[in-house]
Amino acid sequence: MVKFSFSLPDDVVEVSRRLRAAGGEAYLVGGAVRDLLRGVPAGDFDLATNLLPEQTAKSFPSSVPTGIEHGTITVWLNDRCQGKGFEITTYRGEGTYSDGRHPDQVIFMSRIEDDLARRDFTINAMALNPLTLQLVDPFDGQKDLIARLIRAVGDPKVRFCEDGLRSMRAIRFATCLDFNIDANTLAAISETLHTVEKVSIERLRDEFLKLLTAEKPSRGIELMRTTGLLAIILPELLEGVDLHQNHFHMFDVYQHTLAATDAAEGRTARLAALFHDIAKPRTAQQKPDIPGEHTFYRHDSVGAALTDVILRRLKFSNDEREKIVGLVAHHMFWYDPAWSDGSVRRFVRRIGTENLDDIYELRRADIIARGKGEDPSIELEPLQQRVVNVLEQSRAMKITDLAVNGKDVMEVLRVAPSPRVGEVLEQLLERVLEDPSLNHRERLLSLISEYTTPNSKL
Ligand code: ATP
Ligand code: MG
Repeated sequence: MVKFSFSLPDDVVEVSRRLRAAGGEAYLVGGAVRDLLRGVPAGDFDLATNLLPEQTAKSFPSSVPTGIEHGTITVWLNDRCQGKGFEITTYRGEGTYSDGRHPDQVIFMSRIEDDLARRDFTINAMALNPLTLQLVDPFDGQKDLIARLIRAVGDPKVRFCEDGLRSMRAIRFATCLDFNIDANTLAAISETLHTVEKVSIERLRDEFLKLLTAEKPSRGIELMRTTGLLAIILPELLEGVDLHQNHFHMFDVYQHTLAATDAAEGRTARLAALFHDIAKPRTAQQKPDIPGEHTFYRHDSVGAALTDVILRRLKFSNDEREKIVGLVAHHMFWYDPAWSDGSVRRFVRRIGTENLDDIYELRRADIIARGKGEDPSIELEPLQQRVVNVLEQSRAMKITDLAVNGKDVMEVLRVAPSPRVGEVLEQLLERVLEDPSLNHRERLLSLISEYTTPNSKL
């Protein structure tokens, strides 16, 4: 056992003291230990104890059995479940795994070493006693941390067959921490792909989303490709491998996508970058005049439809799916300083004011990922300035921003609710986008009154 000299948050020490006072042991486990040893702020402070959950609960004014079937309860030091709760899990081992996802039964254990043995990687299988600062490290996690290695606890093939998510986690940790994967652990990923297929898509998606927060997600996506995981989770990306584009681009479609994903900042823009050219392979056509060069007509709209299918398969929320699909659909704009203010407003309307920052970020990443050393601000800054200017003149960008509504249209035209009402509002908006000074109630009411026959123009 090694002793360390760093200080832990007071409440972590207090929770441990109470477990000790109740006659139990208390260890910090998992990511917190790894992060403390790396010298980075720890996320969650999870604790393990030999006490049973019902015994643990007695030492705290409030607790919730958040994962009681796995021996986990969440406790608070106050009586209202307020503020930070701590997950405390009884030492456990895991029986056999017959479904490649869940242990058949959870067995409580009396030694911390047995609890550490069920954990996935050596760097995640260390325990720290918060009261004595002693480290329990039976699998040499510290050594691997220094060597920057992801190594499975035990036989990687056996461990990945037990739970198919672990191979995806290996790549996620390697990518986020910028570590290598130990050779045996890496080889085991390709040999156990059949168990990955049994894992729920939500769990795989969540690991993939964590991978995308890495500084360079491309490294992880490439590891997924070479091990075979990409073919399971996002096979559409593989269609772009070796697909040469044209003289605007340094990279093939796949490498361009990876470079754009690395360059984009923020979850939404990153996901949009990952999907923006997803349909290029399916829309590619040889240029008859230049052998080897391709065009990709309608890859934006075909890509939006394909992104929709993929994000449904990956069970993204409707909101996030719609946002990303919209960004993919609209990524092919070509700003020209000759655009009228009306054109700039129509651009804003198409994109949606709430998506402007993401479309700029996507475009910035797309330009960088062409690999030609172009400066994205040359195109983006003038456009952003124009958008600021038109938004200052008027924020009316959608039907609901108009100074009249459907009821007004029905009253003035004496018509019942019908698609016609929407058409009139659309045309009024077109007029207002051209000339924001029209967006006053009286002006619009009089414009509506000119709209008497179905085919009359405003
Ligand atoms: P992060 O900082 O990303 O949350 P973490 O190490 O805390 O990293 P979690 O997914 O929160 O990761 O899991 C907490 C701990 O539980 C891990 O450190 C590991 O010891 C263990 N663990 C999690 N998932 C598995 C798994 N599928 N198989 C074995 N052990 C696991
Ligand atoms: Mg965690």
